[in-house]
Amino acid sequence: MNHEHGTRYIRVIVDRAIHRELDYSVPESLVDRVGVGSRVRVPFRDKSALATVVGIPQQSEAKGIRPIEAIVGDAPVLTEQLLELTKWIGTYYCCPIEAVMRSVLPQVIRRAEIGWKKQLFVQPAHNVDHREIEKLRRRAPRQAELLEAISKLEKPIRAAELLRQTSLDNQTLRALVKRGLAELREEAVVRDPHGDEQFIATSNLILNEEQTHALNEVSRALDAPQNARPILLHGVTGSGKTEIYLQAIRAALDGGRTAIVLVPEISLTPQTVERFKGRFAEAQDDVAVLHSHLSEGERHDEWHKIHSGRARIVIGARSAVFAPLTNLGLIVVDEEHETTYKQEEAPRYHARDVAVVRAKIEKCVVVLGSATPSLESYHNAVTGKYRLVTLTQRIDQKQMPLMRVVDLRQERRKEKKAAILSEKLSQAIADRLEKQEQTILFLNRRGFSTSLLCSNCGEARNCPNCSVALTFHRQPSVAGRLSCHLCGHTAAVPKKCPACGQDALIYHGFGTEKVESTVAQIFPKAVVRRMDADSMTRKEAYRETLRNFRAGKIDILVGTQMIAKGLHFPNVTLVGIINADLALHLPDFRAGERTFQLLTQVAGRAGRGETPGEVFVQTYTPFSPSIQFARHHDFAGYFQQELEFRERCDFPPFKHAVLITVRSAHEGRAKLSAETLKRRLSEALAYSVEAAARAGAYSAVRTPREFSGPRSLGAAAKAGPEEFILGDATPAPLEKLQGQFRFHILIRGEAIMRLSRLVRETLDKLPFPEDVAVAVDVDPYQLL
Ligand code: ADP
Ligand code: ZN
Repeated sequence: MNHEHGTRYIRVIVDRAIHRELDYSVPESLVDRVGVGSRVRVPFRDKSALATVVGIPQQSEAKGIRPIEAIVGDAPVLTEQLLELTKWIGTYYCCPIEAVMRSVLPQVIRRAEIGWKKQLFVQPAHNVDHREIEKLRRRAPRQAELLEAISKLEKPIRAAELLRQTSLDNQTLRALVKRGLAELREEAVVRDPHGDEQFIATSNLILNEEQTHALNEVSRALDAPQNARPILLHGVTGSGKTEIYLQAIRAALDGGRTAIVLVPEISLTPQTVERFKGRFAEAQDDVAVLHSHLSEGERHDEWHKIHSGRARIVIGARSAVFAPLTNLGLIVVDEEHETTYKQEEAPRYHARDVAVVRAKIEKCVVVLGSATPSLESYHNAVTGKYRLVTLTQRIDQKQMPLMRVVDLRQERRKEKKAAILSEKLSQAIADRLEKQEQTILFLNRRGFSTSLLCSNCGEARNCPNCSVALTFHRQPSVAGRLSCHLCGHTAAVPKKCPACGQDALIYHGFGTEKVESTVAQIFPKAVVRRMDADSMTRKEAYRETLRNFRAGKIDILVGTQMIAKGLHFPNVTLVGIINADLALHLPDFRAGERTFQLLTQVAGRAGRGETPGEVFVQTYTPFSPSIQFARHHDFAGYFQQELEFRERCDFPPFKHAVLITVRSAHEGRAKLSAETLKRRLSEALAYSVEAAARAGAYSAVRTPREFSGPRSLGAAAKAGPEEFILGDATPAPLEKLQGQFRFHILIRGEAIMRLSRLVRETLDKLPFPEDVAVAVDVDPYQLL
């Protein structure tokens, strides 16, 4: 045992995947500068590695303790609270802690290789007088000229700026410095991604009655955050939720505390940033913005602005939930139902759930807002775990849009072949063009034709790497080619069917490209633009299109989910949903929920100005519950029926799910590994369940009931918390992805912490072949 008097030990997690904490000693000279949350460089095996300090033990049991090499950066980068959060994520999401650390700390901070951007500033050395300049003028006229310019400066100027203004060169400046007539100084400048923008200051709006009530609830929680429950703000689209966030943030700041606002990446638009920067315009440095398009340098600066306490409000996408603010008072999660809050690579965390846990650790208030809350959150509100606050009215009593369902089956009977635009939707568009009002057309599928089929043998052109059909594009980047949306593979369009050799290929299905061209054909005078991942590859294209749409230069905007969220355009009075069934038929228990949310959100873009909005929903399944409840703006009704279905089928929010994916380029090895894993899991769960039964709890491991689409239900017995449902190892719905064969094992249970631990332990004990990869997803959203 190491217990020498005066020796300090630290416990660290190195950035490498070893799943273990290690102890090191700290040289005398560094002791004062290292604390929990510090970054250090340590000897590791025969190399050196970066690590994070997670504890300061009194003594250490470890043998052969070595001293650390250096401290990286100045101050600890992680607070104790963030460290606790990191550990929670590792345990809950069944993920090694060093992988969690990679999300919590951006790479630019972990490596500490990029520093502040330094720039050289020039100032006169001393009071350079006229005679000195004249003296110099004879010998070195250009130096004299520069010195004269410097002597007139009121404050230091950037060297580059000075040289540009005087059209003189660096050499001349260096010569002056050498003579001791000018001084150069290095100063850090902040790379502010919004530095060149002006924000118009706005002030608090006068809240209506419902808003006042909602803000009061938040204020009350802010006054006593220790025992506040998370608040679920359920407000219909356009009910003024953002105004409540803004005033709640103001209240938190006034109380000397800080705030985080999470928004889905897709709605982190200039419009959103403007709203927040504008409200807090008097202190623009107060607001930091974090998103995935920042340069490494910008990220470094924004992060330090937050860490040093200069920024007090952070707006950002998913990972902003880890913003290193201290004295946190409020976390807002806008559009809390959005699936983009779920990270689809390890650590597979859900930012909304992490926000709730962080709020608990930091003893601060958390507000989850949405017009279409997730079933999980709404269930938590109904059962009293969260506090429910509701906004039922749009601002100024604006009406909810009128929803019309168009039955595509009837349209097909009329037309023989279903048109992209039904007659009714076409007429509505013509009417809007006449009145100079704007239209949004929504289709959640890009490309021109979604498949190329042979009418003789029935073969579709599939991706060689993935089990999906190739999409045909007219798009310049892949003009006239077939392309895979999953792996990017492209192929030329064959003249004849490669399978049967017949000249019988036909294009089938359609995406946004075809909608755009069809609409342009029908309405040749209208200005039609498309917004999807293909047309928005340039960074500015997105802003530009939105600006033009707002300015009324575009009549019809066609797009994917990129246009479904959060946008506020008062002149949009018509929304057409081209095919509402796309999401509904996915093999996913959330298919119904997603469809309801999408319809409600897209519809919410209509009628936000003076004129009421109208929405046309085109569908082959007009009587499906998601469509009918969305049509009547009936969230409660939809929630009730969806909840019953989830309970009968043992899905969330009644059970947690853990999805394990086993994949390999070798199909047989992937299958065998998955089957072995399933057997081991079965043993481990049974053993754990027995232990629980001995302790007196009702318990069982059972196989799942049949599930073949959202509406096929079996009878269910009430289950206890110790029950686990273990499914077989089966080929994933998306069997092949990027050349890898994929198998799924789905486990469900209530005791998620125990389940996560059992899965981790089982995996750690099981050696997999080298070319087999296993991924664990706790509370999965991606079931394909
Ligand atoms: P939501 O986020 O619920 O969809 P918004 O916050 O975008 O709604 O509000 C919709 C519109 O109503 C915005 O233009 C907003 O400025 C305006 N608004 C919000 N609250 C008020 C209020 N109390 N008085 C007047 N206008 C308001
Ligand atoms: Zn592919």
